Amino acid sequence: MKKLGFGLMRLPLTDGADAKSVDQDAFNKMADYFLENGFTYFDTAYPYHGGMSEVAFRKAVAERHPRSAYTITDKMPTFMVREASDYQRLFDEQLSRCGVDYFDYYLLHALGMGSYEKTVALGGFEFMKKLKAEGKAKHIGLSFHDKAEVLDRIFTEHPEMEYVLLQINYIDWDNASIESGRCYEVAVKHKKPVMVMEPVKGGALANVPEDAEKLFRTHAPGMSAASWALRFAASLKNVMVVLSGMSSLEQLRDNAGYMGNFKPLDGEEREIIKKAASIINESIDIPCTACNYCVDGCPKSIPIPKYFSLYNNQKQFGLFPNHTMYYAGLARDFGRASDCIECRQCEEHCPQHIEISRRLKDVASVFDKKR
Ligand code: SF4
Ligand code: SF4
Repeated sequence: MKKLGFGLMRLPLTDGADAKSVDQDAFNKMADYFLENGFTYFDTAYPYHGGMSEVAFRKAVAERHPRSAYTITDKMPTFMVREASDYQRLFDEQLSRCGVDYFDYYLLHALGMGSYEKTVALGGFEFMKKLKAEGKAKHIGLSFHDKAEVLDRIFTEHPEMEYVLLQINYIDWDNASIESGRCYEVAVKHKKPVMVMEPVKGGALANVPEDAEKLFRTHAPGMSAASWALRFAASLKNVMVVLSGMSSLEQLRDNAGYMGNFKPLDGEEREIIKKAASIINESIDIPCTACNYCVDGCPKSIPIPKYFSLYNNQKQFGLFPNHTMYYAGLARDFGRASDCIECRQCEEHCPQHIEISRRLKDVASVFDKKR
């Protein structure tokens, strides 16, 4: 299977202010082009486009192409499940919305520690196994937003999960709170193939600072910044498919161009990406190096560098819903930014001389404001 997957969460719209207004004609043309060029993998989910992503898939693909021409991934919206009977109801609704009899891949959507424990308690894993036994889901897995140790626990306790959808891109790879790289290593350890979401970080890595852009352009004139980001993720050995949330035929043509006959990054290209990442990271707001010297001794157990990296990420790239999820996962186990009592003992240990207690207020203003 080719490594480019069509993520159906940023489809073309007829009204830019209305996420439900999928431009069906434009999407039909994109889906046709995608399939005509030998790609097969589509990825949708219950909440994408306010429920219209699954419907748009049915109209563009299921009703216009033979079942053998494509593979479709959908996801159980674990956040909508209140009781065990909801699993079957939601699943049947998804089959009907998508116009298919079975899904090639079916995931538990957006698992983290909280949703994992809820899913265990409500019998979600048994439900997934049942779907597989019935042939309603050819392969089962999960999408994941939490710390690597949580993923390790899930795969240890549920080895029947066959693969994982992870947020991976060259900026989040070493990020202390998103832990893309560490999560990838956990998947490798458990021998689980990885599907990648957000390889271009919601489009942010398609528009990098001029100096980074210049590095890319000099090495490969005519190749887009987005192509570097997609190729970074696709070059990882254990990655099975990289999802791109394409919104136009132009973006699709660009992606299909270099993903058709995919060539992994070579050593020189990896170095260029490293340099580009450090240029992008130079524009960060809080210059924390994640040395962790400040963490021991905090009376509120605040994971200071993790919150700073999340805050920096948020300031640089937006993507609020994802960041909120990662913050919530950390705040479940540690103190919140707003729990800081300004004792300032941490600041004595900071080699970067960051006014930690003051900057935690900035973090709190972004992530704790809904408390
Ligand atoms: S100033 Fe805040 S973050 Fe630093 S040690 Fe005190 S409570 Fe913890
Ligand atoms: S000591 Fe300073 S640089 Fe090191 S992790 Fe803490 S805030 Fe970041």
